[in-house]
Amino acid sequence: LTSSRASKGMHIIHIAAEMAPVAKVGGLGDVVSGLGKALQRKEHLVEVILPKYDCMQYDHVPDLKALDVVIESYFDGRLFKNKIWAGTVEGLPVYFIEPHHPAKFFWRGKYYGEHDDFKRFSFFSRAALELLYQSGKRPDIIHCHDWQTAFVAPLYWDIYATKGLNSARICFTCHNFEHQGTAPASELASCGLDVHQMNRPDRMQDNSAHDKVNTVKGAIVFSNIVTTVSPTYAQEVCTAEGGRGLHQTLKSCSKKFVGILNGIDIDAWNPSTDKYISVQYSADDLRGKAENKDAIREQLKLSWSEGSRPLVGCITRLVPQKGVHLIRHAIYRTVELGGQFVLLGSSPVPHIQREFEDIAKHFQNHSHVRLLLRYDDALSHLIYAASDMFIIPSMFEPCGLTQMIAMRYGSVPIARKTGGLNDSVFDVDDNMIPVQYQNGFTFVTPDEQGLNSAMERAFQYYIKNPKSWQQLVQKDMRMDFSWDSSASQYEELYEKSVARARAAARV
Ligand code: ADP
Repeated sequence: LTSSRASKGMHIIHIAAEMAPVAKVGGLGDVVSGLGKALQRKEHLVEVILPKYDCMQYDHVPDLKALDVVIESYFDGRLFKNKIWAGTVEGLPVYFIEPHHPAKFFWRGKYYGEHDDFKRFSFFSRAALELLYQSGKRPDIIHCHDWQTAFVAPLYWDIYATKGLNSARICFTCHNFEHQGTAPASELASCGLDVHQMNRPDRMQDNSAHDKVNTVKGAIVFSNIVTTVSPTYAQEVCTAEGGRGLHQTLKSCSKKFVGILNGIDIDAWNPSTDKYISVQYSADDLRGKAENKDAIREQLKLSWSEGSRPLVGCITRLVPQKGVHLIRHAIYRTVELGGQFVLLGSSPVPHIQREFEDIAKHFQNHSHVRLLLRYDDALSHLIYAASDMFIIPSMFEPCGLTQMIAMRYGSVPIARKTGGLNDSVFDVDDNMIPVQYQNGFTFVTPDEQGLNSAMERAFQYYIKNPKSWQQLVQKDMRMDFSWDSSASQYEELYEKSVARARAAARV
């Protein structure tokens, strides 16, 4: 269970519900592995603790093995055994916790969306801390993510620090304030937290429903460092409109709260080595990009008689946050403007899934539109490579990764100016932006006119200035969205927090 410590650097533990590619639902999974790897490259010892889901992609952990230890952790008044598995994911050591609890918490065929999610993840958070405690690890930083592992912050300071697991500072990253993990206050008792102590306005009590606790609020209050995933989103969530009830809490913690733009994993997303695409290519030689466009047209049975039609891509969860009404509008507008559209997406919301199934059926034999309503990692790579433009009309977007991946593959983003999109997509017609940063087409008002204006400008540019378009594609492909600089910002926050703790311990 013990890992040898790197010669220099900090010992950082991520406790999370997702990690790409072994257990990924969305951007959170990408961040845990991308940030973890970047910090490991900076010579820190990085380890990850995940639930052992039955539905994980086990082929991404070839060396997975059960450890010869059983960790007992508290829940609902008694102790439960946990089997601990270890393996390497993307070069990072990972511990997987398999609870031996009759409710079979992670044996459900899916990651989230179960009636007892609050129980499942409060159990996991407690078991993860128990694993650290019993294995005698002395991490410098415990980094927890989103409401599922937000329990770690109050559990650490309330229970484990006093038991002796007291070497760490806690960092909490909220990847999306839409999900706050609220539940009747009494449910908090299961994992051993004191309901009366925690259900207070200055601790975990939800700011609007006072009989409820809010785990994200708890993590904001109890963590030493609180981050979210872009500077613009950090500002937005401090306003009454954007904060979803937590803006006052965040404002009162403003000294420890920052927004750091996520990076992307530039090894996993690299058009010059990507094995999922038909032909590899780079900014220096774009011929392969055109071949990928031909390949996807053939694969999806789209017309390729008029080669010059721009191909518009969209890869997304189909949820209201992503501007589903504007995505639908973009499909029809693309056809009117003379382009082709490929959508890859699926929805956990039944009526949205049904609506898009109807649209997919309507276009099933169309020469210029194809909708693929599923999750398909391999196909996503081909769409990034084949498309000329990429649509992201989000209502709000904490960071967003698809605009950065699209640019790396030379697909020019058409994006709404919100959250992380506002920090990474800069309009080619905005004179206030230095030319070297201009990389896409943006709009502000989240309606059809707003989107139309950006799409029309993109199509004009593509059709009228093929040379300039090609230069724009090359510029986008060369933009640096790697984790390097973002990881340095996390590193600095961690180091300052650790130094403050050590200084305080000396007095
Ligand atoms: P969110 O985390 O809100 O879903 P992000 O833009 O941060 O959005 O991350 C989305 C990630 O999930 C990207 O890596 C994107 O390529 C991937 N993705 C989204 N939908 C699909 C899908 N249907 N098939 C394959 N990959 C998808």
